[in-house]
Amino acid sequence: MNKIVYMDHAATTALDPKVLEVMMPYLTYEYGNAGGIYSLGRNAGEAVHVARAQLANLLNSTPDEIYFTSGGTESDNWAIKGVCDARKKYGNHIITTAIEHHAVLETCKYMEKHGYEVTYIPVDENGLVNPKDIEQAITDKTILVTCMHANNEIGTIEPVEEIGKICNDRHIHFHVDAVQTTGHIEVDVERIGCNSLALSSHKFYGPKGVGAMYLKKGSVCTNFMLGGGQENNRRASTHNVAGIVGLGKASELALLNMNEEYNQTIILRDKLIKTIEETIPDCKLNGDRVKRLPNNINFIFKGIEGESLILFLDMAGVCASSGSACTSGSLDPSHVLLAIGLKHEEAHGSLRLTLGKDNTEEDINLVAEKLPGIVNRLREMSPLYNK
Ligand code: PLP
Repeated sequence: MNKIVYMDHAATTALDPKVLEVMMPYLTYEYGNAGGIYSLGRNAGEAVHVARAQLANLLNSTPDEIYFTSGGTESDNWAIKGVCDARKKYGNHIITTAIEHHAVLETCKYMEKHGYEVTYIPVDENGLVNPKDIEQAITDKTILVTCMHANNEIGTIEPVEEIGKICNDRHIHFHVDAVQTTGHIEVDVERIGCNSLALSSHKFYGPKGVGAMYLKKGSVCTNFMLGGGQENNRRASTHNVAGIVGLGKASELALLNMNEEYNQTIILRDKLIKTIEETIPDCKLNGDRVKRLPNNINFIFKGIEGESLILFLDMAGVCASSGSACTSGSLDPSHVLLAIGLKHEEAHGSLRLTLGKDNTEEDINLVAEKLPGIVNRLREMSPLYNK
């Protein structure tokens, strides 16, 4: 079988073998319930304890501010619904941005159906939120501001520290969706000044189906999953011990390797962006060039369909995406690309390549070699493209 060049790391990443290694006992002979008081249970409980400290270390939080969940989606749902419920006596206004992930947007829409008002802050042509727009949208009813740390489609990194300051000055809960940044760039909850933060393990070489919510001590948020007394009585359900152990190890490795991976990825990213711009006419890089995730490349190619591009790249052995993983499969153009001002027909021609720690110069060269020919062929077939 030919080698697969995987460039869809924003969708998910491969489990790091070192992570799998530490998970294995908890998938086999260390099967105890972390709540059990006999030794098999205590072993599992101790492993959860260690993982909590490892993740807290990555985020610069304390371990008791970490709540393990099933992933980024649950953490976003919990934070938004929980904070709104806990703070409803102070108001019913939420501020978010137009380019959030569906985990946030759909939850905000749900809140609208339940009596809350939501302001969706627009972004500029690079996908940047202006903190002043958030400041101006605040009313005496605002109880929650939620903004992503970096966008999953176009990679733009948002000014969360400035937004955090605005919220802190006014005692408004600030929630950050850091699913795309955790493990890749610095995510320091103290520096950001957030009250809560969502992350997902499978985006940084940990297992799928596990994530966490950071909730700052003293910040109020109603419990979401009701049942047993796990997670300090805040999030019921038997611990996913192997998953949590994997998330802990992935956090430890991320901290250890972050600088090296960052520098290596950014070189490959910039090389591929440059080559695409030099070899393919009528293309445009989406997202901010500087305030950008180290691994994100997102282009629109005039006159072609992103879906066809993905299929042709797949035949060439390259895994990429058009729009986010969660929206591909639907015919609606990405809300993020529309929010940065692209027309519907332009937004359909997007390609997202997201690099990871195992991508090499060879991978970049393969994409650089194959892509111009594929774009050319699709344009020759396209009634929309005139040279
Ligand atoms: N938020 C962002 C920015 C994401 O990119 C994703 C997943 O792509 C999520 C939330 C949801 O995370 P999960 O699928 O792990 O629940």
